[in-house]
Amino acid sequence: ASVYDVVVIGGGAAGIATATSLLSRRADLKVAIVEPAEYHYYQPGWTLVGRGVFSAEQTKRRMADVLPRRATWIRMSSIGFLPDDNSIVLENGRRVQYDVLVVAPGLKLDWGAIPGLSETLGKNRVTSNYRYDLAPYTWELVQNLKQGRALFTQPPMPIKCAGAPQKAMYLSCDEWLRSGRLDDVKVEFHNAGAVLFGVPTYVPPLMGYVDRYGIDLRFESKLIAVDGPRRVATFERKRPDGQTSVAHESFDMLHVCPPQTAPDFVRESPLAAASGWVDVDQWTLQHARFANIFSLGDVCSAPNAKTAAAVRKQAPVVAVNVLDVLEGRAPSAGYDGYGSCPLTVEKGKVILAEFGYGGRLLPSFPQWVVNGAKPSRLSWILKERMLPPIYWKGMLKGHEWLAHPQPVEQVKMKAEAQP
Ligand code: FAD
Repeated sequence: ASVYDVVVIGGGAAGIATATSLLSRRADLKVAIVEPAEYHYYQPGWTLVGRGVFSAEQTKRRMADVLPRRATWIRMSSIGFLPDDNSIVLENGRRVQYDVLVVAPGLKLDWGAIPGLSETLGKNRVTSNYRYDLAPYTWELVQNLKQGRALFTQPPMPIKCAGAPQKAMYLSCDEWLRSGRLDDVKVEFHNAGAVLFGVPTYVPPLMGYVDRYGIDLRFESKLIAVDGPRRVATFERKRPDGQTSVAHESFDMLHVCPPQTAPDFVRESPLAAASGWVDVDQWTLQHARFANIFSLGDVCSAPNAKTAAAVRKQAPVVAVNVLDVLEGRAPSAGYDGYGSCPLTVEKGKVILAEFGYGGRLLPSFPQWVVNGAKPSRLSWILKERMLPPIYWKGMLKGHEWLAHPQPVEQVKMKAEAQP
């Protein structure tokens, strides 16, 4: 079997950012990245694809062009873990040995959990910005819908980019408003959860847009089935008495955010917490039981907002801590739970939610530059023009702009001091 200093599972945002961060710190490190896909996607761009601002192609790069050249690319899926043997198992049965393992295969979009959904996606006016090939269909449907009922759904948490189901809705409403059709389109938001957004600061400005667009909010209403040809969506609703009831809703457009879980090979492994996610210490991102395993990005159990913004802060922390473990020390860097969600509330304006563990606000800019709780043009420019190059040229290349890792004790102290 091959032996590496560090094996990284996943060549997504988290896997690449960690590998490049490691190699920029220690160029002689023997790093392997296990990744089966031919393409890498900038998923935060898909919201703008669904509004016709970006083309889908703008969000896609060849994996070969974004993986760090100094790492070995093992172009295969990983299917299992042998932590006691310091190795992982590949889809062809081969084992790969590591001194330290970084687990970052993202999460599983569980389309199959909703009967009828998979077979109707991309037709019968059923779409989702959660897939590269479907985000353009969202924009097509938005442009073509003249009247009728548009339903937007949100599954139980946690999901990646918790604001994305709403972003799709606000941007669609914005287009219908601008083209004078909003009076003829009835919009409903069916949210399996009980709140519009998990951090209360952002709820009032979002409610302003809910009112402006005349959106009918349905909380604790979970999509459970789709009949594409008949254009009917079925929801399970929680009633005030705690019982559930089932409702069938007809639609002229349906935007679905699918339920999300840890990938099966993670869920069924010794690395998983009871929740299925990789069981990590939320401050160091070190595995709770295996000291030479780390995990970050969407797959890890840390209770941050699952976003690329979180990865930007996590990757340098993991890189420092991996080197600590390789050199026989305890992990020294800490992650404060930072995550960000640029809520595109209309074309040209964004509410920039930035927060850490426990909903503590962690703005990147002074309030006189950007007030995160107010719709802002500057934040839209950040989302459209600045964040994509920050992702491709900064994060994926190991340049840690505004993301220098802090000592773990300091990070914990700050988090406890400012609730
Ligand atoms: P991913 O980037 O998904 O990468 C996972 C990688 O692992 C993939 O390349 C995959 O091929 C590989 N892989 C999977 N299984 C295996 C296996 N068995 N073996 C080896 N490799 C495997 N974030 C923001 O910060 N801001 C936003 O505005 C935002 N908007 C979003 C909008 C949408 C519609 C979506 C879908 C996401 C959005 N996100 C946003 C979230 C962001 O894209 C993710 O949080 C981020 O990509 C997570 O990085 P990751 O590396 O954990 O997972």
